[in-house]
Amino acid sequence: MAALHQNVVKEPGTRPGRFFFHVHDGFYYHLHASTKTRDFYKCVRSQRGCRARATSGADGFRHSITDHNHAADPWFSQEIALKNSILKACEEVRGRPFKEVIAELCEPFPEEVRNRVNIHVFKEAMQRAAASSVQLE
Ligand SMILES: [Zn+2]
Repeated sequence: MAALHQNVVKEPGTRPGRFFFHVHDGFYYHLHASTKTRDFYKCVRSQRGCRARATSGADGFRHSITDHNHAADPWFSQEIALKNSILKACEEVRGRPFKEVIAELCEPFPEEVRNRVNIHVFKEAMQRAAASSVQLE
């Protein structure tokens, strides 16, 4: 990876070792390829048909001329942060009702972000995590 330009934010994704990148404009990218001096990004929704790309290098972050096929999403970054904190809690929670833990983690986030978090999304992670000590209800 080239040196990250100061305007580009790098944040952890929901899968270990995966990151997403953005410049606070509501569009988010995964690193697709790199040279010593330049990084090439694909929109995080590329698998859902978005052809938008971006690059970054010493000259800053540049969007491709191809537009996104979706609107900017001001909540994505917080949504992923909340999901990551819940996934982490899945591994650490002991003897507390899971719904209570999730409610507590969700509290500081705005409604737009909380609405996106569905307990069922985390079922698999919860089952993986210390199965016997995690209570769903
Ligand atoms: Zn896109």
